Amino acid sequence: MKNIKQYNLDELKNEMISIGEKPFRAEQIFSWLYREKVKEFDEMTNLSLELREKLKAEYDICNFKIIRKQESSDGTKKYLFDVLDGNAIETVLMQYHHGKTICVSSQIGCKMGCKFCASTGIPFVRNLSAGEIVEQVIAVEQDILDNISNIVFMGIGEPLDNYENVMKAIKIINNPKGLNIGARHISISTSGIVPKIYDLANENMQCTLSISLHATNNKKRSEMMPVNNAYPIEELIKACKDYIKKTNKRISFEYALAKDNNDNLEDAKELVKLLKGMICHVNLIPINKIENGKFTKSTNENIIKFRDYLNDHGIVATIRRELGSDIDAACGQLRRKNLNN
Ligand code: SAH
Repeated sequence: MKNIKQYNLDELKNEMISIGEKPFRAEQIFSWLYREKVKEFDEMTNLSLELREKLKAEYDICNFKIIRKQESSDGTKKYLFDVLDGNAIETVLMQYHHGKTICVSSQIGCKMGCKFCASTGIPFVRNLSAGEIVEQVIAVEQDILDNISNIVFMGIGEPLDNYENVMKAIKIINNPKGLNIGARHISISTSGIVPKIYDLANENMQCTLSISLHATNNKKRSEMMPVNNAYPIEELIKACKDYIKKTNKRISFEYALAKDNNDNLEDAKELVKLLKGMICHVNLIPINKIENGKFTKSTNENIIKFRDYLNDHGIVATIRRELGSDIDAACGQLRRKNLNN
């Protein structure tokens, strides 16, 4: 069976033609799925009974089940979803005063192996399909009975290692006849898969690109992120410059501060040199220590000094608010969970 949530509107029109239906049916179905957020074909009451039966025979409506929902004292909610094949993933909802942001997963597990991240060390299972990425948004909206305003691809997985499905999901999410969340409200975060950054620059999409930089020289970065061995800093920065030139968009660099590792003023100086002349923003993340991890959080004093140094030297830097840490929903704390543990 095919998941009906994996098609963008044009593809769904082609699907309808392929089963002998008129293309406008696709718009009706789209509206039921993404506006009304129905869970059954039988709820699509402006479709004939006959068509509903036909759809049921060909397609599934993928409805994730909530296995567990935890709520933080700051209002952050963490969902553990059953993705219907014996696997589970985590998705996080954060409430800011300017709206609701959802942190989606792009893969079941992750291959990147970043040393400070809780998704590391658990075997990679598979990519999520476009429909499964979209379903995370719908399932949360169904649960909170409200609309999501922003999406960040910062959950489990490396979005640029699942490039096609992530791009497809964004097109479904963007569609004004669907979830209608504008690309400007979507951020893709990558550990730095250089060839895909070049591809992304050619997509003509208005999403924000976030780069998980975390260190300013290859020795330190490779110690934290094995992906740096394949795509070292010079190549990464070159790809970022190409991206900025082609898209004229600002890049957001993520920098997780770990005590006595990458958080002293020498590092800040190197960072200023590295990012000089680029249209960018630095997001400083107080690192969350993971179980058996060797990296621990910098002191608040160091984090503030680091930020001030960047700001004083022409680089806009902010410290990311930590949300949901009491329910293991903060940066780097998400894991792929098995249904039976
Ligand atoms: N694979 C993508 C997206 C997932 S991680 C990427 O690497 O960008 C989202 C962000 O959280 C990344 O910047 C990542 O480096 C950061 N992160 C991971 N583990 C963390 C931890 N323990 N503390 C703070 N940030 C962490």
